[in-house]
Amino acid sequence: MRYCNVVVDISLDKLDKTFQYKIPEGLQDTLIEGMQVEAPFGRGNRVITGYVVTLSDEPEFDPAKTKEIIKVVDNSTSIDNQLIQLAGWMKRNFGGAMNQALKTVIPIKQKAKSKFKKILVLNIDRNLLDDEYNSLMARSNHSVAKERLFLALKDNDEIPWDVVTKKLNIGSNIIRDFEKNGIITIRQESEYRNPINHTRENEQRHILNDEQASICNQFISDYDAGRLGTYLIHGVTGSGKTLCYLEMIEHVINKGKSAIVLIPEIALTFQTVMRFYNRFGDMVSILNSRMSVAERYDQFLRAKNGDIKIIVGPRSALFTPFPDLGLIVIDEEHETSYKSENVPKYHAVPTAIERARIAGASVVLGSATPSVDSYKKALDGEYTLLSLPNRATANSLAKSEIVDMRSELRRGNNSIISDRLAGLIEDRLNKKEQIMLFLNRRGMLGCISCRECGTTLKCPHCDVSLSLHRDGKMHCHYCGHTEPKPMVCGKCGSKAIGGFNIGTEKVEEIVSDMFPSARVVRMDMDTTKGKTGHEDILAKFKNKEADILVGTQMIVKGHDFGNVTLVGALAADMSLNIPDFRSGERTFQLLTQAVGRAGRGEAEGLAIIQTYEPEHYAIIESMKQDYETFYDKEIMYRNLMNYPPCAHMLLMTIQSEDLEQAEGLANALHDRLKEHFPDAKMLGPQDALIAKINDIHRKTIYIKDSSYELLVSIKDVADEYLLNNTRFPKGHVYFDFDPINSL
Ligand code: ADP
Ligand code: ZN
Ligand code: ZN
Repeated sequence: MRYCNVVVDISLDKLDKTFQYKIPEGLQDTLIEGMQVEAPFGRGNRVITGYVVTLSDEPEFDPAKTKEIIKVVDNSTSIDNQLIQLAGWMKRNFGGAMNQALKTVIPIKQKAKSKFKKILVLNIDRNLLDDEYNSLMARSNHSVAKERLFLALKDNDEIPWDVVTKKLNIGSNIIRDFEKNGIITIRQESEYRNPINHTRENEQRHILNDEQASICNQFISDYDAGRLGTYLIHGVTGSGKTLCYLEMIEHVINKGKSAIVLIPEIALTFQTVMRFYNRFGDMVSILNSRMSVAERYDQFLRAKNGDIKIIVGPRSALFTPFPDLGLIVIDEEHETSYKSENVPKYHAVPTAIERARIAGASVVLGSATPSVDSYKKALDGEYTLLSLPNRATANSLAKSEIVDMRSELRRGNNSIISDRLAGLIEDRLNKKEQIMLFLNRRGMLGCISCRECGTTLKCPHCDVSLSLHRDGKMHCHYCGHTEPKPMVCGKCGSKAIGGFNIGTEKVEEIVSDMFPSARVVRMDMDTTKGKTGHEDILAKFKNKEADILVGTQMIVKGHDFGNVTLVGALAADMSLNIPDFRSGERTFQLLTQAVGRAGRGEAEGLAIIQTYEPEHYAIIESMKQDYETFYDKEIMYRNLMNYPPCAHMLLMTIQSEDLEQAEGLANALHDRLKEHFPDAKMLGPQDALIAKINDIHRKTIYIKDSSYELLVSIKDVADEYLLNNTRFPKGHVYFDFDPINSL
């Protein structure tokens, strides 16, 4: 007998309260998580509808007393149903429990008060009002405040409470008096918080150029013909992708539908939001991680009620409960932030495509450097490829040069700034043009080591190197552990202990020393804490209150500075050395974005790429801004190595604070899977790249296969094993499909 657990009330606090039912014979093979069902409930066997949350073979109660579900509710198109169906799909495709999936897709219900707006409403007819007014005036020492309220009511049937108390300066006791006498009633309207508190500027509407018009027309004619699908816009930096999004959204909105726009949190700046707001006004709202839970919930309610038609936000905005979704746009679709690091570890792109499928909507992905995964799908015909090969404005793409840092070193320059770059900085400063210096720090855990014996200093809780900060202490970036830098090496006693840590702080220092008259600002994790940290720095640079902006990858994401004519990519190859099959792709993306920052205005731009690996194709092709050639080489490598997207990969991370439990569970799990899937290509168990974080030991098993479905069934077998696992109670297993971050 098969059973299913059904949740009747989907408010978040009731999610854990499920009721078990038997699955009737005819539904055994078709019933899946997320389906809406009818079932008898309570003593009177009243028919209720609920959602299937879990399936199992084990009864929780006396099977004789367990009722059967009646039927599956077909074609229910309510938004709740759509989102729950999506949660079921996420659970099946990315692992984790149904509850975790539901909590991801269902907006968090807030007990917190919604803001209310009170309005005074005239409750008697105007003749009567005149009578009341006259009798007040007849009194010799009448209240002038009352008189003011009468006069206001003579002209207006409705007046907001705030206007009465603040502008007319009338006390609430008088208002209540009027209410008691029946002259007015007070109406409450809930006032959703609108997070965009700026006035709309007049949009200067650009006319689409031919390339833009052509891709927009293709989308529009498909949409009107009912051909829904997924599009990938491959447009060079500055090609005007946003204008195309606006155009497509407008078309869909005019058809009475709604749109979701995903933008990486870091690129979600005032500038970006205003481009949407100026076009669509109050139809738009935003979501971001700095908003309170209540504010976010309000936006979800507004979406559900149809008060707004467009939401702009990061990954989680994908679950905005628009009942009439027509389009999902994902800008910078290659960004790693679109993959969730929490269970369920879903990726926004396939999840958006599934949501669109359920809702009857289209998906538009856009990037200057599409992910290899998406580009392959576009070439294979699964997505429609749309191209914008030129910049929208007259200026052409920046030129770029590679500087070989090895020969720099041979010539005796061991600074992080090459002579060529230094000369160009000087030149731009003289011309009053601006400069961006981008330090590629991805994967660089600036380690401290003994130069005599080579011992590196590691965090005692995590298997990663510590890095030296300006406060003189060594920090662990994973757990926050700090300790003072030792005077001598613990192993050999040498005093030659040093850091190779070149951080943005250091670069700022070096640049300020080299160019004492230049105004230098820095943007990285440390300087952008707080609500508006990064916007302040960007505004300062934009207003030309600084000449040089030094920063991490944060500075290369989508910002548009017209006066920047020189971009320097320092340590460009740093990200090539991460032991991750996507390191070439990441490096190419970062450098291309960096090069794209130069020459956005009138003057021609130049980018300098400093590297120790000038022969690597990711470096060479980013210098040439040649995505296609990069892709061809990268896909050859993926094919050869059986890496995604040429195959699929399931990463299982087995964790425990007890090393023996972690090892035992990893081995047992491996053996069980080998038994069921003798032909599966399994790697491990082995230590994770970072074998310990926060005193938790980590083992990994990788499985590669061309079939995603096979990986899903492997996960199901693993899940089943874990459910009955009593030998290693302290072990936990996390599943990650096609991992983005394999650390
Ligand atoms: P992308 O997102 O593709 O990098 P943007 O959408 O930011 O590019 O556009 C780059 C710049 O070109 C912006 O300043 C934008 O206002 C301008 N632009 C885009 N399309 C047009 C157009 N059709 N005519 C004139 N300027 C345009
Ligand atoms: Zn030593
Ligand atoms: Zn640590």
